[in-house]
Order: sequence, then C-alpha cells, then structure tokens
Amino acid sequence: MIFVEMSRGEAHGDGKWAFGSALFSPSRKLGGNGQPRGRWPYWENLLAVRAEDVILHLKLDGPHSAFVGCSIAASDGYRTRESPSNPNKIKHPGLLYRVDLKEYRPFPSKILLSDLFQRHDQFLREYFQRKSKPKDLFYVVQSNRLQCLNGAYLSCMDDELFQLLFGDFLEATGQQAAPTKVETGEVLRQGKARSGQAAFARKIKEIYGCRCCFPGCEIDDERFLVAAHIARWADSPQMRGELGNGLCLCVLHDKAFELGEFTLDQNLRVFVRADTRTKEGAVASQLSGRHGSQIRTALMGVVPNDVALHAHWERVGLDPLEPQPPHA
Ligand SMILES: [Zn+2]
Repeated sequence: MIFVEMSRGEAHGDGKWAFGSALFSPSRKLGGNGQPRGRWPYWENLLAVRAEDVILHLKLDGPHSAFVGCSIAASDGYRTRESPSNPNKIKHPGLLYRVDLKEYRPFPSKILLSDLFQRHDQFLREYFQRKSKPKDLFYVVQSNRLQCLNGAYLSCMDDELFQLLFGDFLEATGQQAAPTKVETGEVLRQGKARSGQAAFARKIKEIYGCRCCFPGCEIDDERFLVAAHIARWADSPQMRGELGNGLCLCVLHDKAFELGEFTLDQNLRVFVRADTRTKEGAVASQLSGRHGSQIRTALMGVVPNDVALHAHWERVGLDPLEPQPPHA
C-alpha cells in the first residue's frame, strides 16, 4: 500500500517523533467539554499501515506545498501511551496512533502540489467523483476547486492515482529531463516497487494460511515467516507480484530453499540435494526426513508455477527430473 502523510513541518515532534521518523495522530477527536469524542478516518488509517508499506510525504506550506520525499513503514500501525515532548497540535495526549518509519529519502526535486493540481485538474475531479470513499483521499473538490482536505493527515493512494500524479517523473530519463527529475523518478519507482513487494508478501502469507508450507513444519508466527520468491525477484521482472512465484516459508526453510539445500519437483514434493541427504546435523536431517513429501498447498488454487520452479532448479543446480542414484 502507498499512503500519503500530509503535515506542516512545525506540527512534527523531535527525536523519534520527528518528520520522516514516525507517523502519529490522536486516536480520538475532542468534544467541546474536553472529553474524547469520535474517531477520524484519516487517523484510523494509521492502524491500516503495515510494515514495509510506502509513505509519501506531502508538506503543506501554502503555495509551496509539495511532495518532498518518501519513507518506509518500519512497523505496523499501533496504539501507544507515549507522546512527543512538544506535542503542538496534539491537544489530547491520551492514546496516540503511531507508525515507526525508516529510510526517509527526500526527493531531489520537490513535486509542487499546485503543479499537479493544475496539470491533472480534469482527471483529479473525475477521480474524486468516481471514488466510492473520497474520504480516503488527500484532496477534495470544494467550491469547484481542487484543494487539500484539511485534516486529511494520512490518506491512501492507489496505483491509478500514483501513476497519474507521478507518471512523468517515473518516465523521465537522462537527456530530456533535468537530473533532479530523473533522480526523483527513481526514488518514486523504488518506492512503488517496494510497495508491490509488501503487498505480495502479505498475499502469499495469507493464501498459505500464515504458516510455513514445508511439510511437517508448524511455524505459524508471522515474525518468523517469509514470502519467498521461487524465481528471484531481481532475475524475473515478468514474474513480479505473481502469486505462483511465491512460497510461505519459515526463516529456516527459506534459507535452505535460498541456498538450494532443497527445491520442489513438479508435483510439489520436497527434493533435497543428494549430498545433503547423506550429511549429518540437525538441519540436514530435518530436511532429509521430508524428501519426497508434498508441501502444504495454498488457498485459492494457487500453485507454484513451472517456469518459476525451473528457474529455481537452474539457479541452485538441482534437477529433480534427473534419475537419482539410489538413496545411500
Ligand atoms: Zn518451516
């Protein structure tokens, strides 16, 4: 997912509350009597953030308002009783929503909001009308004008809107465009790819029931699970995001698969490297004990695809189709 943080510089805190280090908001609006009142969708959005999601930062500064950089969520959204030392706008300390951020990267070239509004005026109006829940957007059409929605602290940005707003940065290349524009396009491209990977990882874990698919492995704690690529992400751009190129494995089995200690044959049975089968040691015997057993399959009829499996066999130098020497 891609989210947009809309903030004024002065509203952010210090230290671990600083701009680019965290997202945070109150959890409730305050009523006139100072008592907590309703929820606010743009604050509730913090709880929808998942680790590795991408955050675009929109800084409000009148006519200079601009997208200034992007960062990666280092945690899922959570509730906390901690609060910044200079909470400025946070008049109700109580319970806050927070997301830890990492890897903040400023855009070499700021992307002015007024430019975007001007250039994409018609599309943005049409998109706003079409969205079933425009309350998730950072802008509104008001008094027949496009403007930032006051208080839209954290909003979502789908692929369509991302592509529309930043398409010309994404496509900017060498000669024809200013170097800062090309570099900004690169930061955006990487952010987009990252968000695709995060979505892929979530989906893979979900269809495997959030459990390692190696036969007999019972690991079901998400912190120890990995959405492994069968054909490497970097080697196979055409298979990016394809669920048939993923496996939900625990960290041990992911490592073993990555190292080529085992692969899967066409019937999705574990095929352990011949010399590993004769080795001693806990890992080798754990793997060998499952040689020939089928992995736990995914929901929704998703199965590892042949092209990806062949790519893995080739990369790690295993061929489960070759006749094997008799088991030593
Ligand atoms: Zn496992």
